[in-house]
Amino acid sequence: MKVHNFNAGPSVLPNEVLYKASKALIDFEGSGMSILEIGHRTSPFIAVMEEARSLVKELMQLEDDFEILYLQGGATMQFLQVPMNLLENGDTAAYVDTGVWSNKAIKEAKSFGFVDVIASSKESNYNHIPKQFNIPPQAKYLHITTNNTIYGTQWQMTPVTDVPLVADMSSDILSRSMDFNKFSLIYAGVQKNMGAAGATMVAVRKSMLGKITRKIPTIMDYKLHIENGSMLNTPPVFAVYISMLTLRWLKEQGGITAIEKINDKKAAMLYDEIDHNPLFRGTVAKEDRSKMNVCFIMDKPEMEEEFLKFCAKEDIVGIKGHRSVGGFRASLYNALPLESVEVMVEAMKYFSLKKA
Ligand code: PMP
Repeated sequence: MKVHNFNAGPSVLPNEVLYKASKALIDFEGSGMSILEIGHRTSPFIAVMEEARSLVKELMQLEDDFEILYLQGGATMQFLQVPMNLLENGDTAAYVDTGVWSNKAIKEAKSFGFVDVIASSKESNYNHIPKQFNIPPQAKYLHITTNNTIYGTQWQMTPVTDVPLVADMSSDILSRSMDFNKFSLIYAGVQKNMGAAGATMVAVRKSMLGKITRKIPTIMDYKLHIENGSMLNTPPVFAVYISMLTLRWLKEQGGITAIEKINDKKAAMLYDEIDHNPLFRGTVAKEDRSKMNVCFIMDKPEMEEEFLKFCAKEDIVGIKGHRSVGGFRASLYNALPLESVEVMVEAMKYFSLKKA
């Protein structure tokens, strides 16, 4: 029996994926070997990598100019790999500061060029997405973090600009329909909506690359990863395999538009309870609420520990808020069943009645 897993990442995976992965751990497609025991340059594994890359492109409906890579180092490595590949010394990149993760991206970019932080919601502890900003036309790119995992805010609109857009989509990738072709580079750690920890997905337009004079170390060069079919060195085979299974699962569900309907329903149910239950209160501006990470607190913080214990008894796990916000954070990633949100809402109602 599984619990109701609201972890922020690594997080819940579809049962089918876990089942298939567990079989492949013992015997991969009847080969008599575990997926962990086959060479990455064998045709069965190359097929896994190619299917994963092409499913990303298909599910996101990306134009031909995009190349999909599975890399290592997490989204955290992308904070530096992006500017290292796109920014010439002396160039400017524009960043919007919407929290801890965008700050880390900003810090790394400063090693490669000028960083213009064009807007920030820091003064209100990142409880909203900045709406007013001017994008300098000379900027090489504009970087945004589409979903802010810690605070529970999410960009509802893609900024309109001629400047190439770069996005960290680690915590809302493949969860909602967007015109992904408006972006020039998208990256995401795969451990939330795309699989298990250990791989990072990068979707990059080839036309963005090869334009700078800096010497890029081999392992950091997107162009070389592309030329080598995302196998410049040994890829994280098991993480790529789980990601491929997760993408197959998403396709079977009907793709992004189908999962988005369920995600909308899950988020609406939980926010509705937060807004109507007198014990709880949301922490961010309503118009910027994330459908992936729902953050909320109690007016009586002394009750929070008791509520957490009550939830644990109901098999609800992973809802303790990040230390910088406090309270609770329920992550509603693609693989979290609607039923888990129903159980969570029931628990909130019951707890509130007991306290009335
Ligand atoms: N960006 C966002 C939005 C995240 O939520 C996270 C991790 N939670 C990261 C970046 C860092 O990802 P990683 O641990 O894969 O480096």
